[in-house]
Amino acid sequence: MEVRCKHCCKSLFKGDSILFNMHHELKQQTTDVGCQADESDCCSYMIPENAPDWIMNAINQESWTKGKLHCPYCNSRLGSFNFVNELKCCCDKYVRPPIRIVNSKVDILCESLR
Ligand SMILES: [Zn+2]
Ligand SMILES: [Zn+2]
Repeated sequence: MEVRCKHCCKSLFKGDSILFNMHHELKQQTTDVGCQADESDCCSYMIPENAPDWIMNAINQESWTKGKLHCPYCNSRLGSFNFVNELKCCCDKYVRPPIRIVNSKVDILCESLR
């Protein structure tokens, strides 16, 4: 799986276990939101353990509180992170992973779909 900035087309991160759905499960495909209750979720999630350096830098700059994520190449807004409040999934059973990427701001390329 590879994620690229939709604006500048540069590769932001790649790997097999990078994107999660709202239930903290690994995404198998871009449309996998994890929850039947809210199929309209437009975001993918990450956890700090496998976030790339530029995301970790943004998080460190805000001292692990919350903030926005921008493309390191063209500065487009790509998502946000929040380590302050636990945001629950709409089904109320799962806590969403803290790093959020807006799907419409990136291109997610899945090997298995090629
Ligand atoms: Zn849910
Ligand atoms: Zn960009």
